[in-house]
Amino acid sequence: MLASLDYKLAFDHVNPEVVTQAMAHMGLPLALTQTINTHWQHQTRWLQYKTSTAQEPLCTSMAIPQGDPLSPLSLQILLLAGAHYVETAAPAAHPREQVIYMDDRSWTSTSADTLAQTMSAWHDFSSICGLKESTDKTQVTFYTQQHLELLQQHPYFTNMTEAIVPTACILGSCTKGEEPRNMHEKETARLQAAKAICSRIKFLPTDHQTKIETARVLAISRASYGWVAFTPPPKELQKIDDEVRQCSGAFLGAARHMHNLLLGGTTVMEVVIGVRQVLLYAKRWMTGSLHVSSVLAQQAMTFLAGTGWSLRNTTWKHAASGMEWHLEKFSFPDYKHKVAHLLREGWRRKQWDALCSGSRRDSVIFRNSTYSEKRVTVVRNVARKSTGPQLAILLGSFYSPAAFSKRRDVPQSMSKCPWCNVEMADQEHIFWTCPSRLTTRGPGDDLERRFGWPTGEDLTNLVQMAQSVDAVWQQRHSNLDAPWTRQVYVGAQQRQ
Ligand SMILES: [Zn+2]
Repeated sequence: MLASLDYKLAFDHVNPEVVTQAMAHMGLPLALTQTINTHWQHQTRWLQYKTSTAQEPLCTSMAIPQGDPLSPLSLQILLLAGAHYVETAAPAAHPREQVIYMDDRSWTSTSADTLAQTMSAWHDFSSICGLKESTDKTQVTFYTQQHLELLQQHPYFTNMTEAIVPTACILGSCTKGEEPRNMHEKETARLQAAKAICSRIKFLPTDHQTKIETARVLAISRASYGWVAFTPPPKELQKIDDEVRQCSGAFLGAARHMHNLLLGGTTVMEVVIGVRQVLLYAKRWMTGSLHVSSVLAQQAMTFLAGTGWSLRNTTWKHAASGMEWHLEKFSFPDYKHKVAHLLREGWRRKQWDALCSGSRRDSVIFRNSTYSEKRVTVVRNVARKSTGPQLAILLGSFYSPAAFSKRRDVPQSMSKCPWCNVEMADQEHIFWTCPSRLTTRGPGDDLERRFGWPTGEDLTNLVQMAQSVDAVWQQRHSNLDAPWTRQVYVGAQQRQ
C-alpha cells in the first residue's frame, strides 16, 4: 500500500526563522543563515501587470521566495526534520519506505496501521510548523485486492474513501496495482500535449529529418516521461508515432515498420519507453533494490521478451542475433549506453520481421534477404542525412508514374515515362531499364533494386536514382493547377 501527501503553497508557509536555524544546525555558516534570515523576513514584492506596477509593495516575513536557489535547500531541511519527527512519533512496526522530494511525501507499507500512523504523524508535524496539507490531493493506493480491503476496513481511512484510488500519481509517474488499469488523466493529458506539439511541428518550413528531430526533443521527451510502472496500450503509442511520422506529409507512403527501422530508434514510443524501463530495471538490480515481482520488473521483462530476449541466470541473450548483455556489468561506466544500443538493435530486428510478414508486395524482398546489422546501420546513417528524393527511395515511399497514375484524381497519361514515353513506367523502368535511365550499373541485389539500399559503401546508384526521382517529381508537379499537386507538392519542397 502507498500513501502520498501534498502541501498547499508550501513555499508560502515556511517560517524563515525556523528553517534558517535548522540550516545552521545542519552546519551551514552562521553568517550565511543569518543573512538569509534577515533577507527572507523582509521580503518586498512589487506586483506588476503588463506595463503597470502596484503603488505599494507587498511585504511578507512568513515565506521563502520561489526562485531563490536556497529555498529548495531550506525546504528539504525542513522536510528532513519532518521525516525524523515521523520516525520518532510513528516508529514503523512493519517495514516502511519513505520517499521525499521537495514537499512531496510518499511512503509504502504492507500494514494499513503503519500507513495510517505515518500519515497521522505527518499531519502533526505539519500543524506544528504551520504547513498546510492539501487534503484533496492526498492519495492512498494499493497493490492487491486484499490491500484494498485492509484499507477500506481501517478506521483511519473510513472518512477518506475518495483518497483511495487504484493508481496514484507521484511526481508525474503513476503507479499500477495487480489489476489491469486504464490510463490516469495526467498520463492522457501528457500524450495529448505531445500530439498537439507534433501538429504544430507539421507547419515548420523544414525537411522531414529536422521535423522528426524537433518532435523527439519537444514531444517524445514529454510523452515518454514517467512510464515506470505502466506502459500505455499499443493503440495509444501508435497514435503518437503516427503524429511524428506525419509531421511531414512527404513520406506517408512508406511502410510504418520501414520508417521505424531506419528512423525510429529514438522516436518510436514503444522502444523509447521500453529501453528506459529496462535500464532502470537493471540499475535497480545492480543496487539490490529490485523486487523481482515488482511492476517495473514486469514491464521491463515484457519489453525484453517482446523483442526476442530471454534471461539465463544474470545474462540476457538475444536468440536470433546472439547478442547478449549482463546485469552484473551495470556497474561499469557507459555500459548502459551499450545495452541501450543492443536493445534498439533487437527492436529493429522486430521491425524487420514485421516487414517480412507484412501483406505488402515488398515483403517478399525482406523474406529473401537476411538481416544484416552492418548493412542496416549503413542505410540508417545514409537515411539520417538524406532528404527529399533520396529519403523517399530508401523508405520505399516514391510513387513511380505507373503507381501514381492509379490515384483516382490523376489522369492515365501521367503513367508515362518522362523520357521515353513508355506507358505504365514503373519503378523498375525508371531506375533500371529505361534507355534514358541515370544509373550506370545494375543493382547489387533486390534491396538495392527496390529501395536503393547500398550493398557496400558505394552510394552512386542511390544518388543517380535520386536524380531520376527528382526529375519525375519536377515534371509531376510542374503544373501547379493540377489537383494532386497541392497535396504532394511538399514532397518536391523537401529537397532543401
Ligand atoms: Zn523510359
